[in-house]
Amino acid sequence: MSAIRFENVSKRYKTGHEALRSADFSLESGEMAFLTGHSGAGKSTLLKMLTLVEHPSRGEVWVGNQNLSKLSRYQIPDYRRTLGVVYQNHRLLGDRNVYQNIALPLQIAGYSRDHIGRRVRAALDRVGLLAAESAFPQALSSGEQQRVGIARAIVHKPRLLIADEPTGNLDPRLSLDIMHLFEQFNRVGTTVLIATHDVALIKRMKHPVLILDKGRLRRV
Ligand code: ADP
Repeated sequence: MSAIRFENVSKRYKTGHEALRSADFSLESGEMAFLTGHSGAGKSTLLKMLTLVEHPSRGEVWVGNQNLSKLSRYQIPDYRRTLGVVYQNHRLLGDRNVYQNIALPLQIAGYSRDHIGRRVRAALDRVGLLAAESAFPQALSSGEQQRVGIARAIVHKPRLLIADEPTGNLDPRLSLDIMHLFEQFNRVGTTVLIATHDVALIKRMKHPVLILDKGRLRRV
């Protein structure tokens, strides 16, 4: 079963702009792929179909055995908990420290304090920031902030990790470090889809690439 399957997906915004045109692709479970294309090509739109921020105008999006357009209002929170999402600007809360930022999704899901403590520290360990748990985000470098963003995305062990320009604010060396971190999660079985316009970075890594051009998608 594919981890992600887009079947003839088109997205026309209310403005009339067609951001995706008959997109067809699948990503197998355990794969890691890049999604690339010029600014405005439709990368964020495609990812928003997966996070259910936007919905297709036509076609179907499947994640595992779930047709996303068939999810009921009550199934959506459970579905979202199977995803880890990393943003370009990491979206950390400035009035909470690193530990609290990462713990938040688990607190919302109602886990015990002990369980949360173990999971948060395991996540921080994976991104190499165990020593930073009491720091506030603004005291960290931009690379470290993005690592915290990644720890928050993986703390609930998602089966699918998606990232929208996760290295957009980082220099080339830090960007490569962050991509290697995504590879580590992929190696232990997480399916990873990363939108980036950084072609040089993609070329250095050996993963399938989905190219969007004015809403049309092809896989190379
Ligand atoms: P990318 O992430 O590749 O830069 P986007 O998916 O953000 O591309 O945008 C694709 C196109 O859709 C762009 O032309 C953008 O202006 C348009 N677009 C994105 N979001 C909206 C929206 N909410 N309403 C109308 N047009 C939008």
